[in-house]
Amino acid sequence: MDIDDLAARVIAGERRALARAITLVESGRADHRAAAARLIEIVATAGRQALRIGLSGTPGVGKSTFIEAFGMFLIEKGLKVAVLAVDPSSARSGGSILGDKTRMERLAREPAAFIRPSPSQTELGGVARRTREAVALCEAAGFDVVLIETVGVGQSETMVGAMADLFLLLIAPAGGDELQGVKRGIMEMADLILVNKADGDLKPTATRTCADYAGALRLLRKRRRDPEGYPKAMMVSARTHDGLAESWAAMTELADWRKAQGVWAGTRADQARAWFEDDLRHALLARLENDPKIRAMVETLGRQVAEGATSPASAADRVIAALDD
Ligand code: GDP
Repeated sequence: MDIDDLAARVIAGERRALARAITLVESGRADHRAAAARLIEIVATAGRQALRIGLSGTPGVGKSTFIEAFGMFLIEKGLKVAVLAVDPSSARSGGSILGDKTRMERLAREPAAFIRPSPSQTELGGVARRTREAVALCEAAGFDVVLIETVGVGQSETMVGAMADLFLLLIAPAGGDELQGVKRGIMEMADLILVNKADGDLKPTATRTCADYAGALRLLRKRRRDPEGYPKAMMVSARTHDGLAESWAAMTELADWRKAQGVWAGTRADQARAWFEDDLRHALLARLENDPKIRAMVETLGRQVAEGATSPASAADRVIAALDD
């Protein structure tokens, strides 16, 4: 595979090249990893940055409908939008790869949009790296906004939160005062809580739900470095498109504020450092696992540790010493 050529095509914004490039970064094969690393390095020279928006919400809350409506809204503004799904499609209600593709039919047909369903099989540790690299590829391909979608049930939110510039949480209108079992950790990550389906008969309930969440957010305002009024709860309707413009205005206000305050650059720098360390850990582990001599040694030492013949610490030291040779 000609990586330089592929990189050039990605930077030129060729969608098929982008799709191929993402397939490459999803691969676990050692030679593919090496090629992917080179590809990421080359495309980074394009120096493009998108607004990365994490989006979470439990199945049925209206994520696909929202992404389709919001994506079309952004495209009408002249922006290019990429959508990446993070969770395995099996985690989605009735989801299949095909189902995923037809979820956002209109958006999927737009030349200014790129939709990538989550890979059906990715080893758990690889999800973060795959997503991060897919985001980098979309940025290099000239997308202005990259939406990273998760289903709001797992740990992937934390991972996406660590790579997004903004984090949106979609909520459905509901009665009762308990906050729909939304994990506190996920709520704490949210910059905007969007109460979707604020239309028709659901509007009064949505209004109450929105007020509940606004109250909850005031209680856990923790980011001292956010402007007045953030994080914020707002009502939207993915069906009627009410509130889309307002929610985009809030997103850009917050993003611009963070840029002006230098928070943005600091966050990206911290993220880059964390990713480097993450990659290093992965690479070191892969080396341990792929080196037959080390593997045999780990096997033997593991037995000795289990029998109490060697201490865990000194066994680990011996493996490290062997690596040094
Ligand atoms: P997802 O599982 O989070 O991707 O949710 P979907 O986008 O598939 O939506 C789940 C259901 O909610 C579908 O029947 C949608 O038509 C409906 N829905 C989504 N957004 C809205 C909305 O803004 N208003 C109303 N009334 N229904 C909506």
